[in-house]
Amino acid sequence: MEPITPNKIMRYRGNELNTKGWQQEAALRMLMNNLDEEVAEKPDELVVYGGIGKAARNWECFDAIVRSLKELENDETLLIQSGKPVVVFKTHADAPRVLLANSNIVPAYANWETFHELDKKGLMMYGQMTAGSWIYIGSQGIVQGTYETFAELAKQHYGGSLKGTITVTAGLGGMGGAQPLAVTMNSGVCIAIEVDESRIDRRIETGYTDVKAHTLNEAMKLARNARNEGKALSIGLLGNAAELIPEMIGNGFIPDVLTDQTSAHDPLNGYIPSGMSLEEAATLRKSNPEEYVKRAKASMARHVEGMLEMMEKGAVTFDYGNNIRQVAKDEGVQNAFDFPGFVPAYIRPQFCEGKGPFRWAALSGDPDDIYKTDEAILREFSDNEHLCNWIRMAQEKIQFQGLPSRICWLGYGERARFGKILNDMVASGELKAPIVIGRDHLDSGSVASPNRETEAMKDGSDVVADWPILNAMINAVGGATWVSVHHGGGVGMGYSLHAGMVIVADGTKEAEARLERVLTTDPGMGVVRHVDAGYETAINKAHETGMKIPMLEK
Ligand code: NAD
Repeated sequence: MEPITPNKIMRYRGNELNTKGWQQEAALRMLMNNLDEEVAEKPDELVVYGGIGKAARNWECFDAIVRSLKELENDETLLIQSGKPVVVFKTHADAPRVLLANSNIVPAYANWETFHELDKKGLMMYGQMTAGSWIYIGSQGIVQGTYETFAELAKQHYGGSLKGTITVTAGLGGMGGAQPLAVTMNSGVCIAIEVDESRIDRRIETGYTDVKAHTLNEAMKLARNARNEGKALSIGLLGNAAELIPEMIGNGFIPDVLTDQTSAHDPLNGYIPSGMSLEEAATLRKSNPEEYVKRAKASMARHVEGMLEMMEKGAVTFDYGNNIRQVAKDEGVQNAFDFPGFVPAYIRPQFCEGKGPFRWAALSGDPDDIYKTDEAILREFSDNEHLCNWIRMAQEKIQFQGLPSRICWLGYGERARFGKILNDMVASGELKAPIVIGRDHLDSGSVASPNRETEAMKDGSDVVADWPILNAMINAVGGATWVSVHHGGGVGMGYSLHAGMVIVADGTKEAEARLERVLTTDPGMGVVRHVDAGYETAINKAHETGMKIPMLEK
């Protein structure tokens, strides 16, 4: 693999353009930002996060994308097919500047075997969710979602706080790394098992994890002491979850809360089988991928059996969106789905109101621009105490990675309102450069994923995948700056289809109109998707806001 050179991954900052317009500039800066060494997990391999989630197919494609974006006119659209730029069409000024389709495979062939064959032939890349659609902002992008999940769990089970409880989880990667901080933000104690020591060190350096433990005994002692004193503490425990969960049970150590965010969605590249060092795993992965996958799946089955046993012994247990239950079930663990996914358990009511992981980044690179937008939230949404608390806490506890950014769960109506505020702030010169606005694909109306976002839908429509396609089409028509349609994000090949959306606030009147349209249709799809499935909260939201839904009774 070619090494990164400063010429490839630039840190474009300030308000000078390197392209022919701010929309192209935003795409260029966000592509670079996805691969910034502060942001990406393995930038030298173009890997951003989530197993092998990549930003471009290979370095040749990366260079061609950069070149194309620099040359792209304000009435042209660049098309990306699985990380490779394939054509530039003349379109019009309000059309997206980039359209991306990543990792899509005809349904009957949609599995990892086909994907790996295509990947080997150089025909495809894995785009995950925000990796291939250039709106990943590091662990800071997921931390509020993780915080909201644990906050809701605390509300349902522990009177609103995790104080005096211990949570056990695994995986301190790009997304999983947010778990320890989200638990301590909820005043709890967290043991996060991670097999790769460098990942633990990275989370400690960036303030997401407090301390490291090399042995289970050390971790249990630290956790119990902190819990007894009512202190918040997060511990990165070095080891393999498939080994340590059963060991914990053997020691009579049953946590209050239990989950997992290893990259179980990808048995070949994301999960380390038990009994192997990282080096041994890397060697086997290359020399005998079939044997590797066999061992990884068997370990996941043991891992899930351990989770089920802990659940029976009282741990509040949930799946955290990595499809580990499905793998265990395929391996013969019949009751693998006895614990719920995090969306039906804790998050769906927010999705019903079009709420989800909305985010924005300051293209200037100046943290002050984000602090000014924080002030705007505190001023404009002052009646929303939960939101204001979040912003204050984020300012205090979350370090920026790459371009300064903020994550904040806003819903239908709120996103369009805030989009206009941001555009006005750019227009007035209050901010030093335009703002780029986007979201995770893990959002209310942009994903079909029956083991995750659309698990246990009220009307049984879990596997219906028309919704993300409609989401992408309406956002493209409305004038989002770039729109993407992906397959296999979060839960792996065959289990999800999802769409991304990013839009630039450059202070112009044209941008204002596009923002109004897209930041309405995008969360609006979330409301409609849940109205259609029969959720009362969504139906009320639709009535309150006067949405035109043809078959909804007045
Ligand atoms: P990542 O690949 O960056 O990190 C995964 C981590 O798990 C790595 O650090 C790896 O060393 C560790 N690991 C692998 N096998 C292990 C084992 N047996 N024991 C202990 N540690 C092990 O991935 P990520 O971006 O952190 O995402 C993690 C998973 O969560 C993925 O499956 C992803 O799709 C899913 N995900 C969930 C959400 C959500 O909100 N629920 C959001 C994004 C991603």
